[in-house]
Amino acid sequence: MTKTDRPLIVMKFGGTSVGNPERMQHVAELVASHAKEAEIAVVVSAMAGVTDMLIRAAKEASAGDRDGWKGVRQELARRHREVADRTLSPSEQAGVLPRLAEQVEHFENLCSGFSLVREVTPRAMDTLSSLGEVMSSLLLAAILRSQGYPAEAVDARDLIVTDEKFGNATPLFKETNVKARQHLSRLRRKGAIGVITGFRGATRDGVCTTLGRGGSDYSATIIGSALDARETWIWTDVDGVMTADPRLVANARIIPEISYQEAIELSFFGAKVLHPKTIQPVTERNIPVWIKNTFNPACPGTRIGSIRGDRARGVKAITSVSKADLLTLSAKGNLAFAQLAAKAFTALSTEEVDSLMVTQSSADNLLCFGVRDRDLKSVKALLEKVFELEMLHDQRVSIEVMPQVAIVVMIGENMKGTPGLAGRAFSALGKRGINLIAIAQGSSEISISFAVKATDVKDAVQAIHDEFEL
Ligand code: ASP
Ligand code: MG
Repeated sequence: MTKTDRPLIVMKFGGTSVGNPERMQHVAELVASHAKEAEIAVVVSAMAGVTDMLIRAAKEASAGDRDGWKGVRQELARRHREVADRTLSPSEQAGVLPRLAEQVEHFENLCSGFSLVREVTPRAMDTLSSLGEVMSSLLLAAILRSQGYPAEAVDARDLIVTDEKFGNATPLFKETNVKARQHLSRLRRKGAIGVITGFRGATRDGVCTTLGRGGSDYSATIIGSALDARETWIWTDVDGVMTADPRLVANARIIPEISYQEAIELSFFGAKVLHPKTIQPVTERNIPVWIKNTFNPACPGTRIGSIRGDRARGVKAITSVSKADLLTLSAKGNLAFAQLAAKAFTALSTEEVDSLMVTQSSADNLLCFGVRDRDLKSVKALLEKVFELEMLHDQRVSIEVMPQVAIVVMIGENMKGTPGLAGRAFSALGKRGINLIAIAQGSSEISISFAVKATDVKDAVQAIHDEFEL
């Protein structure tokens, strides 16, 4: 096989997979072992805990704390240096240590700036919070070279072009595709493995942006799509996507295959394996995404893509948000339901709050939706502001909160057009004496959501899991 015949696979490694010198070494070995059959591009996260540490330091510095970030500086230097000491050949060490030191200095300059001006702008935060990715990519590339594989660290600012929404930027795909292809084809011709920083990108003007927390998954599929890779592999610390949260259901199991749509639903509701936007770039080109476990590489994992087998199954997985609240808006008089809904959702969208499920009862002008507990306070305040007039005026609108609920979601593409699934699910809940507070199913029929008391969530998820023999 010539070099160019080999399929291209983009492999992304998360923070725990590169969390210490041994883990990083192991990742390099995994890459090397696959580099025999495939051409590989690597996307790497910051070492576990580093991003949190960077963000904390920036906040402390901008709050005027002159010393807090100095401890972080040391920790940052120490952790990366330890990897270099333990994994690199002397000549690689000599090359990489000064480059790591540059990043630490960059960190220091930024933090001392924040502490002087007592402010950190979203734009400066993006540069700082993604320094961990720069450091881990430098190290991983050097480890690969130490093991005899040509590899080069690549800063994704040179590949991924985004809008200017600092902290949660969206890629501009056309420009990204051109840039990423150009830049990486040079490496590919040399037969070198690119080790690309996850999480970050840059605006058209070259200003650093980030793709949102956990965004390295997204980086991987953006690159996978740009290069028209055969597959994208997300290496993480679990065996794959599970039928339910194993903390709620002891007999939850790994799902071998799920569709893109199912994966999107699952990640939206908080199954932590994937950043919610990850799937979007690869669906059009139909590039499969695998979830694999670096701690258990022999396990095949979960394949996300067009479904090949397993067509019959209706319910595929259950996910839940255990800490949620239901907000009910009711309108009296001549305020039409559509107006009520329009105003409420416009408000939610400006705050970028996701509603988890929505039900309406238009005859008595009731709109009920679920939000995550952490969003409740801000959503309630927002709605009170938006409906201030209506609430004053003969109380034409009222807002009620039902706290401590859980939203449970049954997901499965093949629930579509299969009669009786909802009936089975709800009677399984009824048999266990679990009360349903609200129910919603979209017309895509890919998910059915319902709200129960938070204390019932474990029983509810187990009941559905048992009923459908997941
Ligand atoms: N390091 C970034 C974060 O912790 C991105 C990632 O790991 O996906 O959010
Ligand atoms: Mg992650």
